[in-house]
Amino acid sequence: MTPVDRGDVMLVLGAGPTGLAMARALAERGIPYQQVEATHDVGGNWAHGVYETAHIISSRKTTEFADHPMPADYPDFPSGKQMHAYFRAYAEHFHLYDHLRFGAEVTHAEEAAGGGWQVTFRDGTVERYKGLVVCNGHHWARSFPAWTADFTGEVLHSKDYKRPDQLRGKRVLVVGGGNSGCDLASEAARVGATADWSLRRGYWFLPKTLFGRPSVEIMTPWMPVFAQRLLLRGLVRVVVGRYADYGLPEPDHALFDAHPSISTEVFHALKHGTLHPRPDVRAVSGQTVTFADGTAATYDLVALGTGFDLSYPFLPPGTVPVVGKVPQLYAGMLRPEHRHLWVMGGQQARYGIGPLLRPLGQLLADWIPLQDELTVPLGELLRRTGEQIPTTHLVDPHAAIRRMALGRTLVPLLRWRARHLGVTYPPAAISAAANRRPSSS
Ligand SMILES: Cc1cc2nc3c(=O)[nH]c(=O)nc-3n(C[C@H](O)[C@H](O)[C@H](O)COP(=O)(O)OP(=O)(O)OC[C@H]3O[C@@H](n4cnc5c(N)ncnc54)[C@H](O)[C@@H]3O)c2cc1C
Repeated sequence: MTPVDRGDVMLVLGAGPTGLAMARALAERGIPYQQVEATHDVGGNWAHGVYETAHIISSRKTTEFADHPMPADYPDFPSGKQMHAYFRAYAEHFHLYDHLRFGAEVTHAEEAAGGGWQVTFRDGTVERYKGLVVCNGHHWARSFPAWTADFTGEVLHSKDYKRPDQLRGKRVLVVGGGNSGCDLASEAARVGATADWSLRRGYWFLPKTLFGRPSVEIMTPWMPVFAQRLLLRGLVRVVVGRYADYGLPEPDHALFDAHPSISTEVFHALKHGTLHPRPDVRAVSGQTVTFADGTAATYDLVALGTGFDLSYPFLPPGTVPVVGKVPQLYAGMLRPEHRHLWVMGGQQARYGIGPLLRPLGQLLADWIPLQDELTVPLGELLRRTGEQIPTTHLVDPHAAIRRMALGRTLVPLLRWRARHLGVTYPPAAISAAANRRPSSS
């Protein structure tokens, strides 16, 4: 099929929080773009990915977009429904629906021989865009432990958990100590016939509030990480006590070396005797699970808070290599092999995502015109300037905001560096590109 040529239009793939923030930044800068979304609504996870009873784990202040505060009557921890309404309001406020096509799933995208990106949609249509801004999310490709294949009872991943009735009256084993694991464990303790909680290792569990404020807000931008660690460790000891007093293993890593889990409810359930900690799973036979300490129990349902893999199924294999949970991207968004492939939102902020997305969008809007000037992929230019691929998917939000601000100031320097390497477009090519008009849809 001959692709419809969209000229200099960028394609923003996905209309979750990340896609909305990127679209807003491009619109603001007058960069032509089209946004597509596989489902029929904006909000991503908050529209179709979380359970009925979900409330955010980060706080309202650390999750709202910097350019659009949440309504003043929202609580510190809005519900999933409130979050969804907020993202809809954001799209409306910045007129993002004007450039949004719903029910448009990208099934394949590859760099076209003559430049630009050729994109195939689920309905078979093919379009050519100048570039791709990939915002497909990182909470959808379910990760299953291998042993679940041998369990003959019900297996439910947190992504498929929607309401407490799925757990009600069942002997439930919850697996995983992350935030989804904590939510599942609290729900199972409330409505399950029995609730056990298998933890492979010791985690940092933080209460949701400290001093009447969301715990994540206790950390302020000026506070170095060692001070944040010291403060939180002290507060946890005072407010919660020792994890061993709850039957939980002590953390086997420093605070923030892994995503801390935030839940007050699990402590109640453990002390109420409605939730029972178990170590890692060693073996499974039928519906009976044997644990690392040699104990065993029989369950109707295994509820998995075992997380997600990063996946870009519409890109040719290997386009964005992923090591563990870390996408191999320069500045967290660029590959050295491709021009105008912007992969956004693959990192996880230690708190909420909102405050990061505005500066990320602004950086993107600054760097797209820079990439237009360069024959060399910007990722390759960054590589040649000594930039390193991040070694973790966890992001300290305050440090990330500072880095993005720095990235914006580096544009003249990067342009100068590219000129020295002889990798800018000849001026004629720039003006030809600038004069190209997108074809109508
Ligand atoms: C239970 C749970 C609780 C959470 N709590 C918090 C919290 O408290 N604070 C916080 O900051 N974050 C939280 N998160 C993380 C949450 O994922 C982010 O808040 C946010 O949704 C990420 O936004 P995103 O746009 O990157 O991805 P998503 O929200 O996943 O959106 C991606 C969008 O891209 C679309 N898409 C994907 N592939 C294609 C394709 N091929 N073609 C077209 N469209 C496509 C999807 O349909 C989706 O709408 C939580 C997640 C879960 C699961």
